[in-house]
Amino acid sequence: MPISTGYSAIVATGQQLFITQRNGQTQLTITTTAPGQQQSQSSSLATGEWRSPPALYCTSSGVVLQIFAQQQDIWLQLQGQQMQAMTSAPTVMEADRVTLEPTEAPSVMQPMQPMEMGDMEMKPMQMKMGDMEMSMGKPDRTTKFCSQCGQPVEASDRFCTQCGHSLS
Ligand SMILES: [Zn+2]
Repeated sequence: MPISTGYSAIVATGQQLFITQRNGQTQLTITTTAPGQQQSQSSSLATGEWRSPPALYCTSSGVVLQIFAQQQDIWLQLQGQQMQAMTSAPTVMEADRVTLEPTEAPSVMQPMQPMEMGDMEMKPMQMKMGDMEMSMGKPDRTTKFCSQCGQPVEASDRFCTQCGHSLS
């Protein structure tokens, strides 16, 4: 079973309705696309799992949405850019039914989804100041080697302690 279920339909010129259900919450989003801009209005309803996919009707009195919520049917009517709950079930005709296309949740909804912090547990940065101080405390000295025998020698040494080769 998919975690989220969604449907969408064009409800007016430049106006698209998205109905998505995720974890028992039904989200209604209306995106309005006008030249040069896109607006989005969202509202959320606790419906539980749908008994069946929602039904959309384009009646003479407006666009009406029926959500088959877990307990009861919820009727909503498009009012401007929002879906308003209706107090009583309207009379709809099957002939007015609008096809809803299965869809993913629109991208504009993404920021509204709750952050799943469980996977993002912050671990305190482990500062290894001791090691940093140790490496910073070391004298800035490049180790030299005798060009004759390869013995490590002090930079201040003039002659190799191993073979007596002149280091200068
Ligand atoms: Zn040497």
